[in-house]
Amino acid sequence: MKKTRQIKGTLHASSDPSEAPTYYECPDCGFLSADARFGSGEIPCPHCSATDGVRRVFPPDRIRRLDSRIRHYHKLGESEIVVILAETFLEATLEDIIDRILVARGADVKVREIVLDGQRAIGGRIGRLFPHLTGEEFEEAAAEMGFREFPRRWRQIRQARNAFIHDSPFKGPQETLDDGMAAEAMDLLDQSYKLFVLMNNRFVADGARGRRTPTAK
Ligand SMILES: [Zn+2]
Repeated sequence: MKKTRQIKGTLHASSDPSEAPTYYECPDCGFLSADARFGSGEIPCPHCSATDGVRRVFPPDRIRRLDSRIRHYHKLGESEIVVILAETFLEATLEDIIDRILVARGADVKVREIVLDGQRAIGGRIGRLFPHLTGEEFEEAAAEMGFREFPRRWRQIRQARNAFIHDSPFKGPQETLDDGMAAEAMDLLDQSYKLFVLMNNRFVADGARGRRTPTAK
């Protein structure tokens, strides 16, 4: 019998690297799965066993549109635009995961707004907000999920983007963002979906489940 190894939530319905992958979200616990049978309602949520509700597609349309535009610029060789947009994309992805963790922890809209507004800088979100909310360092969680190099590589892209955009009085501006950096940024963009889903399933779906009462199932 053919045996396929599969880590929870990482099975890809679409492995086409020229577009964003597709996942389906459990309306009850927030679990994300690439299993199309889950998306169509054929099988219950692999995490909380819920069978009801509409399973929304993740990422949503606006993110999918942004993803395809970044890929378009990459094909055109517009490496500076690719790095700037991909970095923005990665920061938005981190904001999304933190927001989802806040929701899973029971925060209302006002609290979420105050927490995210209080920590606008990406460094603070990764270095302080994330560990406060999850009890784990971002780097540590990424490494456990098989993405040990992601935080360091992301930091490099972020620094290059910042040096390009801002005129640094210390080191002088970075004059170009080259093809190598654009390829690196695209690789991180592809990885970010998998990491997002794994973090979601660990810190959001598990958190939501822990909060539920036995009768709420
Ligand atoms: Zn579920």
